[in-house]
Amino acid sequence: MHVETLAVGPLGCNCSIVADLEAKRAIVIDPGGDYDEIDRRLRALGVAVDAIVHTHTHVDHVGCTAELQRATGAAASIHEGDRFLYELLPVQAALIGTDVPEAADVDGALGDGRTVRAGSLELAVLHTPGHTPGSCCFVARDGGATRVFAGDTLFRGGIGRTDLWGGDHDAILRSIRQRLLTLPDDALVVTGHGPSTTVGSERARNPFLRDR
Ligand SMILES: [Zn+2]
Ligand SMILES: [Zn+2]
Repeated sequence: MHVETLAVGPLGCNCSIVADLEAKRAIVIDPGGDYDEIDRRLRALGVAVDAIVHTHTHVDHVGCTAELQRATGAAASIHEGDRFLYELLPVQAALIGTDVPEAADVDGALGDGRTVRAGSLELAVLHTPGHTPGSCCFVARDGGATRVFAGDTLFRGGIGRTDLWGGDHDAILRSIRQRLLTLPDDALVVTGHGPSTTVGSERARNPFLRDR
């Protein structure tokens, strides 16, 4: 499993390319913008994209989904709980002063317990509501290593904001505690913005996750 993470778009959303380099297939997580850069990396790796998935449907995570879908023909998936946010893209774009993304053909196929596949790759879908109602994390197991793509649910030393449409502070804490902190301590967490972390280090040091 080959993973590359690029900070893209106006808010530096972490877009990940997860590739099976033998089978030449890939999954793209959160193509938030900078399509040319994502395309350049895909070409350099020589991989075809089988699936485009989104940790949630904030505008900075879906900015070039339509271009990528047009170029690859891949299915683009969100969780149905975030459908209303996809319809609110013009409002979201106005809020951060960015262009309204072109509309992609997004299906609502992401659901808890589902698996997203490309070549030998398997990403397990965890529904982790809180940052948005349809927020999901994707878990990849590679040999003994676990990697989780957490979107804006969990950051290094922080958690996602819950003051936007459909945000729920109790729900995000429940999602993190019940679905993410139950992963192995050495599980690598690729966050939605900024540096990666591990489950163990957030369990030990994240001020939002202290027991009260
Ligand atoms: Zn977000
Ligand atoms: Zn974000």
